[in-house]
Amino acid sequence: MTTFRWGDPADAVTLPSSVRNLLAAALGVTEPRPAAEPVLPEPAPLPDFPGLDVSPAARLGHATGMSTEDLLTARGGAVPDAPDGVARPASHEEVLEVLRLAAEHRVAVVPHGGRTSVVGGLRAVREGYTGVVALDLSGLDRLLRLDRTSRTATFQAGVPGPRAEEMLNAEGFTLGHFPQSFQYATLGGFAATRSSGQASAGYGRFDQMVVGLRAATGAGTLDLGRAPQSAAGPDLRQLLLGSEGAFGVLTEITVRIRPRRELQYAGWAFPSFEAGMRAVRALAQDGPLPVVLRLSDEAETAINAATGSGAEAGGGCLAIVGHFPGADPAERLVEYGGEPLGEEPGKAWEAGRFRAPYLRDALLDAGALAETLETATFWDRLPQTYAAVRDALVGTLSAAGTPPMVMCHISHVYETGASLYFTVVAAQAEDPIAQWRAAKAAAGEAIVKSGATISHHHGVGRDHRSWYAQEIGPVGTAVLHAVKRAVDPHDVLNPGILLP
Ligand SMILES: Cc1cc2nc3c(=O)[nH]c(=O)nc-3n(C[C@H](O)[C@H](O)[C@H](O)COP(=O)(O)OP(=O)(O)OC[C@H]3O[C@@H](n4cnc5c(N)ncnc54)[C@H](O)[C@@H]3O)c2cc1C
Repeated sequence: MTTFRWGDPADAVTLPSSVRNLLAAALGVTEPRPAAEPVLPEPAPLPDFPGLDVSPAARLGHATGMSTEDLLTARGGAVPDAPDGVARPASHEEVLEVLRLAAEHRVAVVPHGGRTSVVGGLRAVREGYTGVVALDLSGLDRLLRLDRTSRTATFQAGVPGPRAEEMLNAEGFTLGHFPQSFQYATLGGFAATRSSGQASAGYGRFDQMVVGLRAATGAGTLDLGRAPQSAAGPDLRQLLLGSEGAFGVLTEITVRIRPRRELQYAGWAFPSFEAGMRAVRALAQDGPLPVVLRLSDEAETAINAATGSGAEAGGGCLAIVGHFPGADPAERLVEYGGEPLGEEPGKAWEAGRFRAPYLRDALLDAGALAETLETATFWDRLPQTYAAVRDALVGTLSAAGTPPMVMCHISHVYETGASLYFTVVAAQAEDPIAQWRAAKAAAGEAIVKSGATISHHHGVGRDHRSWYAQEIGPVGTAVLHAVKRAVDPHDVLNPGILLP
């Protein structure tokens, strides 16, 4: 049976009894929800795109992204956004050819990297088009250049995270970009969504790593980034970073790379989330800044400890710190009230850091709703945004049934602020999609009202457009539409995504 699940079936998890007991006791979750076999809609005919595959297997394989809404829709037996076919070009020129044919036949083109979008970035609008083609970038899978002197590497955009690391590690380098979706997401996807990885404190966000780009647009090729920095007008690379396939198809990415170094990990306990926030702010502003810096709130710490996936922190909050040898921030953490818990919690976090997506599938099977959302704001507003989003999620989901578990952590810090990453687990209602949409709407309103951004690293996609419009205002929206007209004159690139 085809099911829409994360990763390798061999790595699927079954819920440990500690988690099943917690779900039953805290949320009343006892009824499993098996997934149905999804039924493909009838395909529309497509022109002869390079590398076209219209088989049901190819269409199903490109039918959804990875948000809980995507998974619940597919588990319910429907894949309404499945493309009519999949084009797999093998070169930049073939991508340009896909765009030319799409314009001629008015077919919507959805660039596909690793398909890990959690904001509906692959759910293009179908109305007004003769068909939808998934433009699968997996054929663009090569390392084109490695410049040891400048410490840059140029990859084709379809290279997945692990493959890029493998190729760089073989030369003694690393990119240092490890989002939780690392195993499947691609360099093109990282750039198109302004991704941020678990080591962002030390290596920066993906958009900070990009020094050059090549994009195929509806108006021709854009080659950007010919120097490490430039004062030659506005930086057009920034128009492509975060453009989610709406302004062009990224075909090559040049990134800065660094020599590979091992990290030392440690766990720290703080008496409260606020106390921990003061400590991580001190490191972000005055150093020494570690490479990995994460702080869980009281709820996340307690639930992880109860289910065996995190260390106890004496009723307070757990922080995980990963640093280079010789740059241990221990002294500062003690100064800010931290208690050292030794290496073990850090090593355990590192070992299990890519397991959460498998856990989500098991939670959905068990009848729980599980989803995440994220934001970022300045340090002065962080506690208020945290409280407002938490209250919005708890209030909306409690009104609809049993109170949810809402957990939060900080995992990306800057001198001026940080991101907040929320995880929600609740009992699935009769209509879990409507249930989550209501909770997400309330959280989105709380984010915007508190002056924070609707996304720190997931992007806009289809799901965040109305809040994005509020963030950038009517002039910002008009600028985006003007750019769209310039680079996508036939309006075939990922319609319905990004632009308000
Ligand atoms: C379990 C899970 C954990 C996650 N953890 C993180 C995390 O820690 N940090 C983080 O930043 N994100 C995270 N994400 C979100 C997601 O992985 C990122 O947005 C990622 O960057 C998407 O890369 P992808 O290759 O899968 O792109 P896709 O999902 O295939 O595409 C994403 C968007 O970019 C467009 N696109 C893709 N490739 C190109 C291209 N070459 N040119 C133009 N447009 C393109 C697509 O059309 C789509 O709109 C997570 C997602 C999941 C499911």
